[in-house]
Amino acid sequence: MIPVVALVGRPNVGKSTLFNRLTRTRDALVADFPGLTRDRKYGKAELEEHEFIVIDTGGIDGTEDGVETKMAEQSLAAIEEADVVLFLVDGRAGLTAADQAIAKHLRSRNKPTFLVVNKIDGIDADSACADFWQLGVDAMYQIAAAQNRGVTALMERALAPFAEELKEQAGDEDEVSIEDLNSVEDIENANLSEADAEAAYKRLQEQPIKLAIIGRPNVGKSTLTNRILGEERVVVYDMPGTTRDSIYIPMEREGQEYVLIDTAGIRRRKNMHEAVEKFSVVQTLKAIEDANVVLLVIDARENISDQDLSLLGYALNAGRSLVIAVNKWDGLDNEVKERVKSELDRRLGFVDFARIHFISALHGTGVGHLYESVQEAYQSATKRISTSMLTRIMQMAQDDHQPPMIRGRRVKLKYAHAGGYNPPIIVIHGNLVNELPGSYKRYLMNYYRKSLEMMGTPIRIMFQSSE
Ligand code: GDP
Ligand code: GDP
Repeated sequence: MIPVVALVGRPNVGKSTLFNRLTRTRDALVADFPGLTRDRKYGKAELEEHEFIVIDTGGIDGTEDGVETKMAEQSLAAIEEADVVLFLVDGRAGLTAADQAIAKHLRSRNKPTFLVVNKIDGIDADSACADFWQLGVDAMYQIAAAQNRGVTALMERALAPFAEELKEQAGDEDEVSIEDLNSVEDIENANLSEADAEAAYKRLQEQPIKLAIIGRPNVGKSTLTNRILGEERVVVYDMPGTTRDSIYIPMEREGQEYVLIDTAGIRRRKNMHEAVEKFSVVQTLKAIEDANVVLLVIDARENISDQDLSLLGYALNAGRSLVIAVNKWDGLDNEVKERVKSELDRRLGFVDFARIHFISALHGTGVGHLYESVQEAYQSATKRISTSMLTRIMQMAQDDHQPPMIRGRRVKLKYAHAGGYNPPIIVIHGNLVNELPGSYKRYLMNYYRKSLEMMGTPIRIMFQSSE
């Protein structure tokens, strides 16, 4: 499971600066969902071999009426869901009452917490830090987020326990058994012979499909999950133990096994009418990370919101296969339906690989067809494609439509091979290929998508210039 790191601290200590540093230029998912009281940012970070989700929990100003009331409930929830808390203070401003109030609060939380003294550039760090020992911590880390000083060392320490876990899971490198390879990454990292890799992929394709049902609050996720689980043709297995994360529900339908990742928490409720669980962004992001296929539910009765797009963007960045369900399609008149469809065309062009279904979770209309697209998306994402096939398709694309001239020279595509799966990555070699215009890159992408019949998964093309 991908670790979650929360950045906590009073305003102005440098949380956003550190957040941007960790997530680089990736678009942050700014949470402004109904029911969340503060703006917070969520991003995916990659540092050396670590991947993690980072949350900027927003400024907590402990000087006002006690932290408890000021830290909005959802902000607390974000800390609760974090695996590690980085508590930032300002080395230039020195210790403040707000810092003390936050520290007191964090102590009661019992989370692995790292005290991070920021802005130590150009000051005598050790004397600036002396005061902060009053916060009663075991260790503190000095950084200058703006200069990227100390950041890697800090994250190495903060994430070390998770790296250990990964190593243990990977077990003895020399004795990899195909049965232990449960993801495309595992297979790619295992250095298998071609035949073994083939077998491992085949096995993977027969594995249960992990399907995350995600979407904003009230779009109908629980209704859909209940509909799916209540269907006669679905066999639901014993529930695994409850955790603080999403609930995993194994089921089978028409010979295909699935594991539903339920972000709406329906199985946690005692009955259907119990209040809806609070929406959790962290839980949603983790579900995306852990899924093979993401089913994004959108409400036909609401405009497509920035939050829908943020969730899509996150899934896309994570390389997940995607199916879109436009829910509450019942009882809409034709004019409204047309309007919704044209809005989808206009705003969802960037995920044109995803199948869109119009459904009514309430009445069950269209729900059965979702499985076909989910299977298709999964098969596409994990399909093995040979070098000769990829090169042949590249050649055909080039014959149909020559690449443009660049500085008077013809770009020549030479060969292609697979660079990874789930999402599929295609590496194209040739001269000047890095300088191909975006339009030709998109042309190649679409050509591959059509030729390989890959619906439901993003495809990435990388270019390797031979000069
Ligand atoms: P936030 O409110 O906690 O998110 O703080 P910001 O990231 O917005 O930073 C507040 C101010 O501190 C900005 O003017 C930053 O440029 C500055 N700042 C952040 N990190 C550093 C640092 O490492 N050194 C110095 N000197 N200034 C910094
Ligand atoms: P969640 O927060 O995404 O889990 O959303 P719920 O499943 O709790 O649904 C929110 C509201 O939308 C409830 O009042 C549902 O009855 C209603 N709803 C869900 N699906 C549909 C649908 O297909 N059609 C209509 N008309 N209402 C729906």
